[in-house]
Amino acid sequence: MNTASRTLHGYSRTPAHHVRADIMRPERRHEVLALSDAFPLIARGAGHSYGDAALPAADGKIVMTERMDKFISYDADNRVLKCEAGVTLLDFFNSFVPRSAYLPVTPGISEITIGGCIAADIHSKNHWREGGFSRSVKSLSILTSEAGLVSCSRSENPQLFAATLAGYGLTGLIIEAELQLQPLLATTLQTQAQCATGIDELFARYQEATEKHAYAVGWIDYLNDTTPRGLVLTADYDLHAQKKEFAPWQPKKKKPLGLMAPAFNALSQSMFNRVFYAKHQMAPSAAQELRPFLFPWDNLANFNELYGKNGFYEYQCCVPEEGALEFFKMLSCELAEIKNDVPVYFAAFKRMSNCEGLMSYPFKGYSFLIDVKATAPAHAFLERLDALVCEYGGRVNLAKDARLSARYCHIMYPQTNAFLTVAEQFNKRGLRASAMAQRFEWIR
Ligand SMILES: Cc1cc2nc3c(=O)[nH]c(=O)nc-3n(C[C@H](O)[C@H](O)[C@H](O)COP(=O)(O)OP(=O)(O)OC[C@H]3O[C@@H](n4cnc5c(N)ncnc54)[C@H](O)[C@@H]3O)c2cc1C
Repeated sequence: MNTASRTLHGYSRTPAHHVRADIMRPERRHEVLALSDAFPLIARGAGHSYGDAALPAADGKIVMTERMDKFISYDADNRVLKCEAGVTLLDFFNSFVPRSAYLPVTPGISEITIGGCIAADIHSKNHWREGGFSRSVKSLSILTSEAGLVSCSRSENPQLFAATLAGYGLTGLIIEAELQLQPLLATTLQTQAQCATGIDELFARYQEATEKHAYAVGWIDYLNDTTPRGLVLTADYDLHAQKKEFAPWQPKKKKPLGLMAPAFNALSQSMFNRVFYAKHQMAPSAAQELRPFLFPWDNLANFNELYGKNGFYEYQCCVPEEGALEFFKMLSCELAEIKNDVPVYFAAFKRMSNCEGLMSYPFKGYSFLIDVKATAPAHAFLERLDALVCEYGGRVNLAKDARLSARYCHIMYPQTNAFLTVAEQFNKRGLRASAMAQRFEWIR
């Protein structure tokens, strides 16, 4: 198959993760099956992982899945869909909202592929209720280097199945997925916001909200002058809302946000935060349509350009339930101390549950997220944070990561060896490998 050369980068846009890569774009089944095993390959969906998970290993090439985008079959009685891995969530929702079916676990942007959702076992603002994306996966067809095309599910090749959920493409190229859809009860949600000052109040209100609501996320303003303050944002499907005719969702035009990068700083973001907080304080309840609720980043798909040429880090870590509040307070104190050097542009937290993927990020606890510009002080701070996360028995989300060391990754993911054993059984000689796999010294 012909290869082309293109510069690719992770969503963080950090300079270390801009690479010139050889890419292949198979479309038909025979083209996929004919992919050469003369060099390491890694799949790339929409390229929305933040670091190097979808970038090639040294001497490796990329298989873009953008043309593997067909729906194969749909069993409407049982709501079971078979589709290729390059189908995007945007295409999925356009086809299935009119059939009143949906996937309950989706990330914050719809430009992402089904393959990317499986390979990172992505989570939503309802993880403690619905689990990860993997819960919707019934079976997979995977192209491996040693055994060719292999089917797997919870009953057939179960180890390969568990390793492929959050397997970051290292068990093979997911060609097809069979997905269990759920009935979509409404396309309007009732959202609510509660204001809180200080970490104790914010955390307590959030915990309470998770007992009552379908979705809940905590937002924190670390740029506030005094005590950090935040919002608990919740949502529930509005079963009484009048059904509207579905107008297909269009891909959103990208705004030239890169032009605003010079004006994007702690002061401008602090003003944005104030407006965001005041808006929710003044109008705490609102009705929201499905797309802006599920995919708030569709309107700001290239917000990463705001961070300028050095990019940013999105640090996301999950910490066990028992120590979560203490960790949250410790993190907030540390952030207050280094506020001038490492301002936090965006921060949020969510409640999580256990997952079945061997390398899935979430477990029963709380997930905390901060966005910071990729500067030297930020790098130094995040290294300290890695140690703190380990101390609390937590782990970093690899789909968002661009900088974690091999040593910390191994401590945070004690199941790594079991995962690599399965990946190597189906792909000897590092033939499914990414830059991230090399960074973590997973290619043995
Ligand atoms: C604005 C924004 C919001 C986000 N919100 C969330 C969120 O709320 N929750 C969350 O969990 N994540 C979130 N993410 C992260 C994102 O969901 C994941 O990084 C996801 O994996 C990206 O999918 P992709 O199609 O872009 O995959 P890529 O970035 O292209 O690839 C990600 C990984 O999947 C592998 N992969 C992709 N396709 C295949 C395939 N066919 N076979 C085998 N492996 C494959 C790649 O090799 C790579 O390791 C967000 C990202 C952005 C940019």
